[in-house]
Formats: sequence, C-alpha cells, structure tokens
Amino acid sequence: MGSGIVGIYGFSKLWKMARFVYYALLALQHRGQETCGIVTYDGKGGLYSHKAGGLVDQVFSQPETLENLRGWVGIGCVTTVAEKDPSLIQPAIVEGPVRTALCFDGKILNLKSLRGKVSPLEPRSEAELLALIFSQKLEGGLHPVEAASQLMGEVKGVYSLVALTERGEMVAVRDPHGVKPLAIGSFGFDYGVVASESCVIDVIGADFKSDVQPGEIYYFDEYSIERRQAVKPKPKYCAFEHVYLARPDSIVNEVPIYNTRISIGEILAEEHLAENADLVLGVPETAIPFAVAYAQKAGKPFGLGFVQTGRRIRSAIKPTQFERLVGVQLKLNPIKSAISGRRIVLVDDSVVRGTTTKNTVNLMRNKMGAREVHVRVGSPRIVTPCPYGTEVPEKDELIAAHLSPGEVSKVVGADSFHWLSIKGLVKALGIPRKNLCLGCFTGKYPIPFKDEK
Ligand code: SF4
Repeated sequence: MGSGIVGIYGFSKLWKMARFVYYALLALQHRGQETCGIVTYDGKGGLYSHKAGGLVDQVFSQPETLENLRGWVGIGCVTTVAEKDPSLIQPAIVEGPVRTALCFDGKILNLKSLRGKVSPLEPRSEAELLALIFSQKLEGGLHPVEAASQLMGEVKGVYSLVALTERGEMVAVRDPHGVKPLAIGSFGFDYGVVASESCVIDVIGADFKSDVQPGEIYYFDEYSIERRQAVKPKPKYCAFEHVYLARPDSIVNEVPIYNTRISIGEILAEEHLAENADLVLGVPETAIPFAVAYAQKAGKPFGLGFVQTGRRIRSAIKPTQFERLVGVQLKLNPIKSAISGRRIVLVDDSVVRGTTTKNTVNLMRNKMGAREVHVRVGSPRIVTPCPYGTEVPEKDELIAAHLSPGEVSKVVGADSFHWLSIKGLVKALGIPRKNLCLGCFTGKYPIPFKDEK
C-alpha cells in the first residue's frame, strides 16, 4: 500500500499534538487520498484515535474531533487504499501485550512466515501484523529499540513505519533498503518529528535534520531520544519517488526533489528536442518544473496551458476507471487562448495507461485548436508493476509495456512522443545506479520477492 506517515513527540505535556499531526497529514495528502487517521497519547487514557475514509480536511472537519485527540504525542497516516471496514484503516491499533498503534508505508514480503510468529492471533492487515510482532517483543521487558531491531531482522520487505505504545513510547524504523522515504526533524528541544517527506517538517514549523538512514531506528520517550543504526544500509531508493511521488519542496535521500525535476527537464530537452515547436506547456502539477527547465534548455517560451478545477487529485492513483475519468476532467481545463494555433510541446510527468494523455492531446488539438502537439514525458517508460507497495497498475494496463513510442504517439494522437531515458533519469537523480530501485522502468527488481498471502 502507498501511504504517507508521520509521528510527532512533544517533550512538554502542554503540547496538543493532534493539530500538528493534522497539518502534517495535509502536507502528505498527495501520498494517499483514500483514508487517513490519527492516534494520540496523553499519559492518562492510553491511546485516542480517529480514522475514516476520505481526505484529511473532510475526516477532521469538526473542531471537536481534534480536541478529543488529547495528548502531546501523535502519529498519523494517509493511504491510497479504500477500506470498507474503518477498523482496518491505519494507524492500526492492536490489543497485544502492550497496546500499540502503528502506521507504515510499504509492502511486507514474507507475510506467511511472519503470521506464524503471532499465531493463533490473526492480524487482518500488514500494519496489524507489524504492530503485533512489535508489541509481543515488548512483553518480556525488551527495550523498544531492541524490539524494533529484532523486528527489522525478521521482517523481509520494504517499509518505513512509526509506532506508538500505550506507555508513550514512539519508534520510527526505515528498512535497510530505504526504498520508502523517511525524514527526521525537530523543534529545538520541544519536539521531535519523523515523516515520509521533509516538506511536512517545514510545514509544521520544525527544522529538517536529515533522512532516517536505511536500517536506522529512532526512539522517543518522555526523557530521551535514541538513535540506532540497527542494520547496515543497503540502499535501493525508489526512483519513482523522485520523479513523481514526492512533493517538489521535499528533500528525499539527500536530494532536493525540485533540483532533480529541473535536471530531468533539461535532459529531456537534450534527448528529445521538438525543434519546430513554439511553446512549452507542463501538465500540472508535477510536470511544471520539467516543463520550465525543458523550455529554458530548448530556448523556447514556457506558457501556462491549464487551470485546475477542484481538489488536486492524482488521477493515476485513483482506484476506478470512473474516478480516473472524473479526476482527469477536474484536473485540467486547457486555456484556449494560450494553445490555439500553436505548435505545443506538452511535458508530462509520467504516462501510465495513456488515458489522461490521450484526453489531453485530444482536447488541445480538437477543442483548443493546437496546430501540433509533441508529448515529452519526464519519466522513463513504465513497463511493469511495483511489488513494493506503490500503486502502479498491472502490466496489461501499462501502455509502455506493449507499444513503442511511435505506436503510443498514434494511440494518444500526438505528432511525436518520447520518454526520458533510464540513463537520463539516473543522471538527473545524481544517485549511483546500484543504490536505486528502477524496477517499474526496467522489470528488474533489486529486492527478491514472491507474493505471499
Ligand atoms: S518498482 Fe518502481 S515504484 Fe516500485 S520501488 Fe521500484 S522504482 Fe519505486
């Protein structure tokens, strides 16, 4: 499952942390729009929680909802997966030996053997399973850092997680491959914060410190913060995070996302210049930095071609075809006066099924009067799904898995169509290729997996 997670530990009981977690979740909304939840701790009543399906400002629209989430410690999560049973929404809360709430971003790859460890209990989700394993390890008096370290040794998979116990201990863990991001920050000596992306830390007024390193654990309680490099890092950072998932104001794996996207636009212009075009447009929002940089490199004007209507909905990760179509219409209304009569370079962030691109090209050409539309994509061809929890559709839905750029060009109705090369992406990222996961672009996955139910 794709998600965005946060944990904030206040070192004074005066803090009302639910409000900060709420703002943090708003900043993470782009990582998941189906469910969200917050769990807090106040040292008196155990754990307080509120979670539901919907966007963050819908789920927490009533002021008393946040008021009732008492305490100076809080964790929270947004996810990409709709859940009919509200009790299954993250953060999971398990009634193990030590009541524990946990949220995570990622995918567990040895579910079967892990289930055996907590038998006869039957966790209903990966988050419940992880919370139970952690809770059971605490039972014998193990320190939470040691418990998290043992958990890391047993769990095979790709995950960043944050857990909060009824005793007020908060633990954050990033797996040794670091596929999923996790950042750490603080507000002086007042509070510590871990979050999927550094933009969260900025938004709540704290100071970003660094990434949580792959294989690293952070522990917080009333009196201390502890950090342990439990397992040697073996980085396999998700390249798709840098191209598409993360916000441009975040720093992920020590790389500013904005800078990477500018480099991508420049390299795209070097690789696939549309010489005769007279205007460069970017599909909002992710592709705007690509398009600005493409235009600068190509020496062509950059224009604003679209206005977004309604909420910022990520159409590629909505779960049904109907919602995807609604998402496309809400997302982009082209500006006719900017487009009419021009030869346009349309820069997009990724083309997954091709549905959005086809609709957009069709609108630009047939309704807005574009003379030519040349599509340039700021990611390499996506040819296989992601086994590590990112919502990439199955192979038979991926247009690049079946068609050449020329064929895609015909299908979407463009005058020309090109993706960024994998070599170009690696150059833009500035991270050694051996430290990256490029699985959905190459079909070669760096971490072994088989589907275990
Ligand atoms: S397969 Fe793609 S989306 Fe999944 S972790 Fe690798 S690069 Fe990221």
